[in-house]
Amino acid sequence: MTTLDYATEVIPETDLLSRVAELGEAITHDFRGRDPLFVIMLNGSVPFGADLVRRVDLPAEVDFLGLNRFGGGGRIGIAMDLSTPVLDRNVILIEDIIDTGLTLTVLRRMMTDRGAATVSTAALLDKTRRRVTDVPVEYRGFEVGDEYLVGYGLDWRGLYRNLRSVWAVLDQDVFATRTDFLAATLSARG
Ligand code: 5GP
Repeated sequence: MTTLDYATEVIPETDLLSRVAELGEAITHDFRGRDPLFVIMLNGSVPFGADLVRRVDLPAEVDFLGLNRFGGGGRIGIAMDLSTPVLDRNVILIEDIIDTGLTLTVLRRMMTDRGAATVSTAALLDKTRRRVTDVPVEYRGFEVGDEYLVGYGLDWRGLYRNLRSVWAVLDQDVFATRTDFLAATLSARG
């Protein structure tokens, strides 16, 4: 793994993909006979969601949900709604990262209010120590620390979602000034 003085690679591509395959196997096992509807949260969960659903060997539907967040406190609005009704469906929410848990709490309630038969969550990353509300995460990829993470869907001001591995930003002030971060990740990949 590569370390720069302002960022360090914390989860390499091979570890991400093998863990995603394990989560896909677990979902395949658990949902046999009750086909899931995957809800991939825009924009950060697209790489994880695309990899995860291809590791689930069941008839499954995939839809997308985009949220607007208003400040802290878990106040959210819908920027782009699902096109599939969730009534009586076994919904699996696909999230890139759970932090306080407030967004996920609202989302789960939204799915329940719309009549979903069951609601589960698959989250790639979980900042468990920062949780302010108790919310279940049935399929968890990795527990992570408090650092700000980028890559594999996670952004820094809209950038770096397309990195293949997950990096932790060590120094936000320095990171903000580094225009060579992408090049550094590419040369680390070789
Ligand atoms: P929560 O409602 O759980 O506090 O917020 C979860 C959301 O916060 C994630 O979907 C993501 O958009 C954002 N988030 C939390 N931690 C990070 C992080 O380390 N990096 C990035 N890029 N986004 C994060």
